Amino acid sequence: MTDSISLPDHQWPTLEPGWVWLCGAGPGDPGLLTLHALNALRQADAIVYDALVDERILDWAPKAEKIYAGKRGGKPSAKQRDISLRLVELAQAGRRVLRLKGGDPFVFGRGGEEAQTLVQHGVRLRIIPGISAGIGGLAYAGIPVTHRDVNQSVTFVTGHDQSGATPSSLDWAAISRGSQVIVIYMGMKHAGAIAGALLAAGRDPEEPVAVVAGATTPAQQVLETRLDRMAADIADSRLEPPAIICIGRAALMRQVLDWQDQLAGAAPRDLDPLRRGWPAEQG
Ligand code: SAH
Repeated sequence: MTDSISLPDHQWPTLEPGWVWLCGAGPGDPGLLTLHALNALRQADAIVYDALVDERILDWAPKAEKIYAGKRGGKPSAKQRDISLRLVELAQAGRRVLRLKGGDPFVFGRGGEEAQTLVQHGVRLRIIPGISAGIGGLAYAGIPVTHRDVNQSVTFVTGHDQSGATPSSLDWAAISRGSQVIVIYMGMKHAGAIAGALLAAGRDPEEPVAVVAGATTPAQQVLETRLDRMAADIADSRLEPPAIICIGRAALMRQVLDWQDQLAGAAPRDLDPLRRGWPAEQG
């Protein structure tokens, strides 16, 4: 156990031997961890972590055994079963287990399946939510996932189903009608098919799109494009996953809210990108 990182005074829970804490690590930047996650890092003696967990976070638990359980998209789902059973084994061996997953464990993260397996095997658990890439990652690109002038709803979509194919089972026409902003996880591979489905459903070809790769990490990159060019621009840009695709006028807000660029000294590109009339606080 390390005491090097102190937590504020509070009745923090104890990670008991034989328990598993299923915890979101946020999208990358270690500063986006929750205090419960930090408390867990301080106590765990075994950490089972995903490909999307930033390694800098693991440095905060120097004495824990680190077990990599990376799963790259498209691999057969048998692997998931192995991970869940490994957690059961570690718990049954009396370890203090931290299962650390990228973003939020219950957002396209199979956290529900892992938790269910643990409960079915009688393993006690705690769930620690995290900041999901589709919200926090967009915020780091200066995109508010809801914005009063843009959307009253937002839809989070996975870009591929269990078999790795485009989720053809999704009703793209309904998604297109029902949500002004669509946030797509795991969408890079099938960006063309997704754009095609949305255009066929009547979405505006000129609709703004932002693709945020490596969000909140030092390697963050943002591509600004529009729906009809999205797939070609993604291919040309050579952006690498993980990336979040945001479709909708919220993406324009980056022109005023790209705070990272502004930290680096750039001026805002446009103070009123939605042309609502300035200043924003009126009305
Ligand atoms: N549970 C995670 C999502 C896991 S699915 C969460 O709540 O964020 C994996 C997908 O998440 C990736 O394909 C990508 O679409 C998105 N993602 C995760 N981390 C990301 C990051 N740092 N930048 C951009 N996208 C990310």
